Amino acid sequence: MRRVSILGATGSIGQNTIDLIARDPEAYDVVALTGAGNIAQLAEDARRLGADLAVTAHEDRLDDLRAALAGSGVEAAAGQAALTEAGARPADWVMSAIVGAAGLAPGLAALEQGATLALANKESLVCAGALVLEIAARHDARLLPVDSEHSAVFQALAGEDMAAVERIVITASGGAFRDWPLERLAQATLAEASSHPNWDMGQRITIDSASMFNKALELIETREYFGIDPERIEVLVHPESLIHALVGFNDGALMAHVGAPDMRHAIGYALHWPERRALPVPRLDLAQVGQLNFRAPDDARYPALRLARAVMARGGLSGAVFNAAKERALDAFIAGRIGFLDMAGVVEQVLDRFEANPGLIDAAMTLDNVVQTDHLARDWADNVMAAKRAG
Ligand code: NDP
Repeated sequence: MRRVSILGATGSIGQNTIDLIARDPEAYDVVALTGAGNIAQLAEDARRLGADLAVTAHEDRLDDLRAALAGSGVEAAAGQAALTEAGARPADWVMSAIVGAAGLAPGLAALEQGATLALANKESLVCAGALVLEIAARHDARLLPVDSEHSAVFQALAGEDMAAVERIVITASGGAFRDWPLERLAQATLAEASSHPNWDMGQRITIDSASMFNKALELIETREYFGIDPERIEVLVHPESLIHALVGFNDGALMAHVGAPDMRHAIGYALHWPERRALPVPRLDLAQVGQLNFRAPDDARYPALRLARAVMARGGLSGAVFNAAKERALDAFIAGRIGFLDMAGVVEQVLDRFEANPGLIDAAMTLDNVVQTDHLARDWADNVMAAKRAG
């Protein structure tokens, strides 16, 4: 039996992971499940799957979780340290699907115990790519991509030599506003930004898709995971979201990964790797699809991509600054405090403050430094937004 844990079990990726695991209960021994506010879902899944441990990120919800698990024999815990302890519980395979920088420490704990880490939490690589890879190497732990684009690249690279790769192309649907006139974007509402044309995902990543901050994070993730020069990573707008990524080789061949937009493919590939097993995902009928469309991303519409390129050029802790500022700006947009287009402006101003801090630019990439920089960048983002409101 394989021991598995799911960090972020109550979210969109977590639930899709549980869907796959629950289809073959004899094959898996569920060690830990984590969530945050959705206590009822966490407790229900922990009971159903017979987990050893259930953890909520919210310390003030521990009593609720205990009550929901009463009589089940599942251990309950709460808080940041308990999340990291969930990642550290001995397991063979751990899904990292907490949203945001909060996923970094529990994922690192999983790598430190030598588990295979299936990484949906792209923020880990954006904030601390070098650290994540170094810890994985030191503990002989494997890191498998779950983001659909990165899983697609990983699959296209199977049996290939990285030296023969000329470029990596990650596709983007263009999000909810890809066909909106530019001047309308400033008025985009939360409800409009929270609906994706092709994928069913958590609210935060859906809004990040509309602003292309999600693709910006994925550019950095591609750079970190595959170690390829930023100039050789391209973004291609592909409204149908059927080709997830392409790898261009030095003989001119382009290997594309094509599939229905269903995250259970990438999750299942990481779950069964290195084998490829049958998965309950829709099969594509390309004759029915008929046509696939592509266009270059419009820089004026998507400033997040330009900011990501600046982050890749700077390296170091700039990814942690970028992500933290983006998370705060997104919080403010969700709370109705800033407009849709203001998010990129906030992130850009926070990156400018980072650039004016030589001590931070040269700081070593340790977990402490990443966490402190993350906190500092959140404060800077709050200051930038407060100044804007006051002005
Ligand atoms: P969701 O918002 O659906 O789920 C997030 C999960 O994290 C939930 O379990 C949530 O708990 C938990 N959580 C929220 N805040 C915290 C916190 N502060 N500390 C600990 N846990 C917390 O997100 P998704 O599943 O959509 O995305 C998860 C990750 O996977 C993200 O990094 C995203 O970018 C990435 N990803 C997602 C894809 C998708 O299709 N959804 C595709 C590719 C990557 P609760 O719900 O109980 O509050």
